[in-house]
Parts: sequence; C-alpha cells; structure tokens
Amino acid sequence: MSQAALYPGSFDPVTYGHIDLLQRAAKVFNPVLVGVAHNTAKETLFSDEERVEMLREVTADIDNIKVVAFRGLVVDFARQQGVNVLLRGLRMISDFEYELQMALTNRRLDDGIETVFLMPSENCSFLSSGLIKEAARLGADLSSFVPDAIARRLREKFA
Ligand code: ADP
Repeated sequence: MSQAALYPGSFDPVTYGHIDLLQRAAKVFNPVLVGVAHNTAKETLFSDEERVEMLREVTADIDNIKVVAFRGLVVDFARQQGVNVLLRGLRMISDFEYELQMALTNRRLDDGIETVFLMPSENCSFLSSGLIKEAARLGADLSSFVPDAIARRLREKFA
C-alpha cells in the first residue's frame, strides 16, 4: 500500500487523541506525513520546533510516519509533497461543521485533493489540546490526556 496522506494541524501539544488517529492512519496510508502548521492567526503555547519534536518523540515507534513543519496553505504544501489525501479527525458532531467548511474550502482551492476523516477511539473523543492546556495551567493530573514526556513539557511551561 503506498497511498500517502497528510495530517495537518496545530498539535499544540500532541495528545492521546492525535496519537490514536495516527495509529489508525498508519494502517491505511503509507507514508503518513504529519504537517505541523505555523499558524499566524493562532498564538501557540509551543514553538514550531517544539511541536515537531514532541510529535517525533511520541510517534517514534511507528515506521511510516514523518513529521514536518509547514507554512502557508495546506493544499499548497500537500501538492509540493505530492500528496493528494488530507486526513482530519472527527471527535464529535461539534467538529463536523468546522471540518466540513474547511474540507469544502480546500476542495475549492484544489479539487485534486480529497479530505478523509477518521474517528478516534471513544475514550479519546473528548480530548482537545486547548482544554488540556487549561488543565495544565491549573495543575491537573495530565496522565490520561498526554504521554508523560508531553505532560512534563506542559508542567515546565506553566511552572
Ligand atoms: P487544528 O488547530 O488544525 O484544528 P489540532 O491540532 O487541534 O489542529 O487538530 C488537528 C486534527 O486532529 C483536527 O482534525 C482535529 O479534529 C483532530 N483531533 C484533535 N483532537 C483529537 C482527538 N482527541 N481525537 C481525534 N482527532 C482529534
């Protein structure tokens, strides 16, 4: 199987939800490129380099995953990489509206690129980087949300 896919996102930071999705994606697509977006509209807690490094650490055991940072439009980056499948995760109905809008916008920008959605395991379906950062800021136990190495980095940020 050699259909490549690009999984773009902020990953600020990577959570067990993203990891669950990547484990599923790596069984269906080869290779899976994780695109860490440099987002000028969104202020991120972790730098581009930190987000890439964390993703590399937590996906080191999956052979066909490659983590790269990118700037600009997702469809432009996909085309540059020769990839015509975008992967996104759908957690709940609440994700649907935004994800549909984005998929249709990307389709208008490049009709040769398809967006494919994967659903995480139900025990990951409530995890979001935003809420986890808030929990970290308030000193919560993060062990069921992110791997230890990520929890450590979150604690350092809010120390
Ligand atoms: P963005 O800022 O582009 O939404 P995120 O890093 O928040 O980036 O998410 C990247 C992708 O991963 C999105 O498609 C999002 O729906 C998905 N995702 C985020 N958290 C989870 C989760 N817990 N389970 C499955 N998919 C998720």
